[in-house]
Amino acid sequence: MRRIFYFLLLLFFSSTVFAQLNQNGKIAIAIHGGAGTIKREDMSPEREAEYRAKLEEALKAGHQVLENGGSSLNAVVAAIQIMEESPLFNAGKGAVFTNEVKNELDAAIMDGKTRNAGTVAGISTVKSPVAAARVVMENSPHVMMIGQGAEQFAEEQGLEMVDPSYFFTDRRYEQLQRIKDTEQQQLEHDGDKDSGDRRPGDQREGMLDEKFPDRKFGTVGAVALDQEGNLAAATSTGGMTNKRYGRVGDVPIIGAGTYADNTTCAVSATGHGEYFIRSVVAYDIAALMKYKGLSLKEAGEEVVKDKLVKMGGGGGVISIDAQGNIAMPFNTAGMYRASISPGGEMYIGIYEDE
Ligand code: ASP
Repeated sequence: MRRIFYFLLLLFFSSTVFAQLNQNGKIAIAIHGGAGTIKREDMSPEREAEYRAKLEEALKAGHQVLENGGSSLNAVVAAIQIMEESPLFNAGKGAVFTNEVKNELDAAIMDGKTRNAGTVAGISTVKSPVAAARVVMENSPHVMMIGQGAEQFAEEQGLEMVDPSYFFTDRRYEQLQRIKDTEQQQLEHDGDKDSGDRRPGDQREGMLDEKFPDRKFGTVGAVALDQEGNLAAATSTGGMTNKRYGRVGDVPIIGAGTYADNTTCAVSATGHGEYFIRSVVAYDIAALMKYKGLSLKEAGEEVVKDKLVKMGGGGGVISIDAQGNIAMPFNTAGMYRASISPGGEMYIGIYEDE
């Protein structure tokens, strides 16, 4: 009898301690707004201020959710939706154009606790693609839905639908016109990938040279750790300017552009999707932590600054582990990024040297 009493007492105390731990649980969040040839000398002070302000707004919206005890899933969606609605980023409104002058959007979300995931690709009428990915994850038995089917499902789920013209912006339209003219050059570059590794002299240490001055990857993403210790990752994009033939990038490919697992990390990527798919970037970072015991930082640097550079894949990732460590490696001139650490320290960066 006494034993049972002590056992129950122990049970009571340990559950209180756990509850306490969760209550005092660390929270942290990181977001990105794309990587690429983003240089100080090309940026007007006004435009730079706009980016920093929007990153801060999105970051704080996500962090607020976590502070209020909300889930990491809610936090990443809150942060991303602010960037989807901003024409500054290549996601939602402001997405880049396909060769056929359309906006075809991809998005993904993953829950690190259950490793459930939802993704959508090639959609043009759902206002918030990340919300569409979430309903795929939560309200369907599937992981990925594409095109009209995904749009029909999103509508049935009560998501806000828009006319495709909602996503149009002059800036992206002009970008398409510029890239259309240089298509030949891009095709030549695409030929490079078949040769495998980059040519000697093509790289600075851990960085990719900018063969294409206009190349910016403005995808948005968020990763977060909530008070319960759960990780989540989400990414949303218009893909790449001038894409054709129903091209889909890494974003909605679980393990390539988006991944989350409570036992390792949550990752959201931005960059030249084809390389991120072939390198299974997000999962590779988690796998290096799990099987090789690397830290979040070491794993990210190995994948982004070594493996991807050798292949020729420009871009970067934001990542967070279960302790709230944050790493945001990239191999391009810049990456729009921001984070709030478990200690509450806020960081916002654009260029390589900050
Ligand atoms: N990764 C995206 C894609 O290839 C592009 C980006 O990051 O902006 O579709």
